Amino acid sequence: MLDKVLIANRGEVALRIQRACRELGIKTVAVHSTADANLKHVLLADETVCIGPPPSSQSYLNMPAIISAAEVTDAEAIHPGFGFLSENADFAERVQNSGFVFIGPPPEVIRLMGDKISAKDAMRKAGLPTVPGSDGPLGDALDESLRLARDIGYPVIIKAAAGGGGRGMRVVHTEASLANAISITRVEARAAFGSDIVYMEKFLGRPRHIEFQVLADGHGNAVYLFERDCSMQRRHQKVIEEAPAPGLSEELRRTMGERCANACLEVGYRSAGTFEFLFQDGQFFFIEMNTRLQVEHPVTELITGVDIVREQLRIAAGERLSFRQEDLVVRGHAIECRINAEDPKTFMPSPGTVTLWHAPGGPGVRVDSHLYSGYAVPPFYDSMVAKIIAYGDSRASAIARMHGALTEMVVDGIKTNIPLHIEIMQHSAFKAGGTDIHYLEKRLGL
Ligand code: ADP
Repeated sequence: MLDKVLIANRGEVALRIQRACRELGIKTVAVHSTADANLKHVLLADETVCIGPPPSSQSYLNMPAIISAAEVTDAEAIHPGFGFLSENADFAERVQNSGFVFIGPPPEVIRLMGDKISAKDAMRKAGLPTVPGSDGPLGDALDESLRLARDIGYPVIIKAAAGGGGRGMRVVHTEASLANAISITRVEARAAFGSDIVYMEKFLGRPRHIEFQVLADGHGNAVYLFERDCSMQRRHQKVIEEAPAPGLSEELRRTMGERCANACLEVGYRSAGTFEFLFQDGQFFFIEMNTRLQVEHPVTELITGVDIVREQLRIAAGERLSFRQEDLVVRGHAIECRINAEDPKTFMPSPGTVTLWHAPGGPGVRVDSHLYSGYAVPPFYDSMVAKIIAYGDSRASAIARMHGALTEMVVDGIKTNIPLHIEIMQHSAFKAGGTDIHYLEKRLGL
């Protein structure tokens, strides 16, 4: 097993990784910005290193500072968590070239999946269904783009190959607006991602977002840990996730899961990963792969009994997966609510000191959070401060437990979106399950 792991992240996920390390007897190094000295996992770490001032660009994205911290503390491996440098192939490469283990897939696979066009191409070749569209980047010839859009059928969506975080996309409803949409998306993509390469896809009107969790050990073993439904989104950001996806047939689950596991073997994948799909009219369409741990991994852990972070650590240590596909079964249902420090109506961030914190509990309730009474949420980072995960033998029981947990928890001193989650748990369409990705925004009247 690994001896010492540096956690290159902050907040809830840093604590999650630290918990898995402690369970395995691995020492942890917490790196933090000057704004984060009081983070829970920093207080609990074996060693800590301050890597810079509050802005992420100077701390959590500062590659030389993080690698130096690994050097001075003699860490063996670096876990990037999610966000920050987790999908940065150059970082993974620098970590390896400096003699440390990067807890994630090989840099070349991160690079392949980081470009949406090459990712889509690789996945199509590996046998996954993709959204119909241009087979590669759009060229400069407008008549070709016009012909392509006519073939695909409007509406189409123009997407930046290097896009991420729900940005760099534009829906086009009519032929008259195509040329303009392509050039605006190019300009935006160049400014935001440093590349103006764009491609075209059929725009699906009412899809669900369903994704498959995979684990591969680099010894020729890859498994799928079933799927999650993350259709509850606002501005392409997930708000609530659940596993399994309501209404998905056993057969389709198995077919798609097997294809994802095979695709891992095709591209030489290692560690945890997620294949994201849009799902409409009973059909799956691959949109992208996330080459890292996901925020919503706990719902999969609860229905499978697998500790995904522990498996990442074991795989990074060179070990084989400790179970086979046939050992995995879906048991019960799990739902996760992302608790953000924000105004529940305006969604404005609400940093500040938590004057009182009461975590919920009881059967089937898991709380992943770094909050404690007296902790001050800094204004510099993502507003997610807790994840409440409820498990039950049925979806209805998971919803009931989630509702109970949300009404019992107390977070004073800052505003949170708990009232929004309580409202959703009581809503008939959510209770029925299977809503599409536009449901939440429509319901909020946005
Ligand atoms: P990002 O990397 O920015 O998250 P994705 O390609 O994963 O970009 O797309 C993010 C979201 O945008 C999807 O979850 C979906 O809501 C919407 N989207 C992307 N492509 C399409 C499409 N072809 N049709 C309809 N919606 C789409």
